[in-house]
Amino acid sequence: MALLEIDLGAVVWNWRKLAAMHGGATAGVIKADAYGLGAAQVGPALLAAGCRHFFLAHLAEAVALAPRLPGAMLAALNGLRPEETGECRARGIVPVLGSLHELGWWRAEAAAGGEELPVILQVDTGMARLGLAARELAALREDRTLLQGLRVEYVLTHLTSADAPPAPVNQRQARDFAEVMRQFPGAKTSFANSSGMFLGADFASDLARPGAGLYGLNPTPAAANPMRPVVRLNAPILQIHEVETGASVGYGGSWVARRPSRIATVGVGYADGYMRALSNAGSARFDDTPVPLVGRVSMDLTTFDVTGLPASPGDMLCLLGPAHGPDELAREAGTIGYEILTSLGRRYRRRYIGA
Ligand SMILES: *Cc1c(COP(=O)(O)O)cnc(C)c1O
Repeated sequence: MALLEIDLGAVVWNWRKLAAMHGGATAGVIKADAYGLGAAQVGPALLAAGCRHFFLAHLAEAVALAPRLPGAMLAALNGLRPEETGECRARGIVPVLGSLHELGWWRAEAAAGGEELPVILQVDTGMARLGLAARELAALREDRTLLQGLRVEYVLTHLTSADAPPAPVNQRQARDFAEVMRQFPGAKTSFANSSGMFLGADFASDLARPGAGLYGLNPTPAAANPMRPVVRLNAPILQIHEVETGASVGYGGSWVARRPSRIATVGVGYADGYMRALSNAGSARFDDTPVPLVGRVSMDLTTFDVTGLPASPGDMLCLLGPAHGPDELAREAGTIGYEILTSLGRRYRRRYIGA
């Protein structure tokens, strides 16, 4: 069975490195089960390292993690629906709200409970996804009661193109965010994601929100990766097939041997998040030698060309590791490292090291 090794020591090292770069506080974004790596393990490791703010996407994710993260702020980025306000208050989760509808529901909860409730306000400066738009910000300016009973912990916005630093939209969002903050004098800000933390002083805030960088993805795609690798995925070779010139491999015969070849089969496939788009495009490593993925990725099996290498059944192929990580595999699959990590399968044996 394939073994997925997750280095919590590297996650903590990455968080400390980002936190040391940043003037304000640094949160940990652990949504989507800590990008597929295990929020129940990553969260407490970050808490032990001094992280006191965590972002999840859904309220249910925050509720599930809360008992493991005592004393920390847990915030739900996707906000609230009306039937969720009671649970959100009872569990002490801070909702990130970005519409007057949501503010109304949360205000009603505050009034019903007779206590002030915390909120993080999201403003839209370019994503057009979540967050208060200009018209709603104007409404908040004109009618202070729209925030009655609510305590604004942070005002948050999200960059669209932080991984492409020359993009003028970054500076434009920084200017617009600064302008919005004139409306909330004294309120704390939350701005940069991982890549945004590398954009300089205009992108500093009271609370940075890195996710990707914690998990070893490169927040500066145009330069060498400053983060430590976190994941290693090794799969044992199940069988080796010696095939003749002209023989095809796998479904549809999409790869045909041009020479006598040795084909190694591993028990990992698209059902494990090892994407079918890697068919005839991906690669693995045998020791340090790249071996091309040949034929189609099938549900539970994938084949590699190990011709000329001393590979035998039981030997390991490294599908993800320091030399060929999620960003590199993503390039071969035509996607991004985020999707590789969040797709990592449930059938791998998982081992947490370094904590
Ligand atoms: C996911 C997310 C982040 C983290 O982004 P990374 O690129 O993974 O560092 C920060 N802020 C918001 C609003 C997000 O949705």
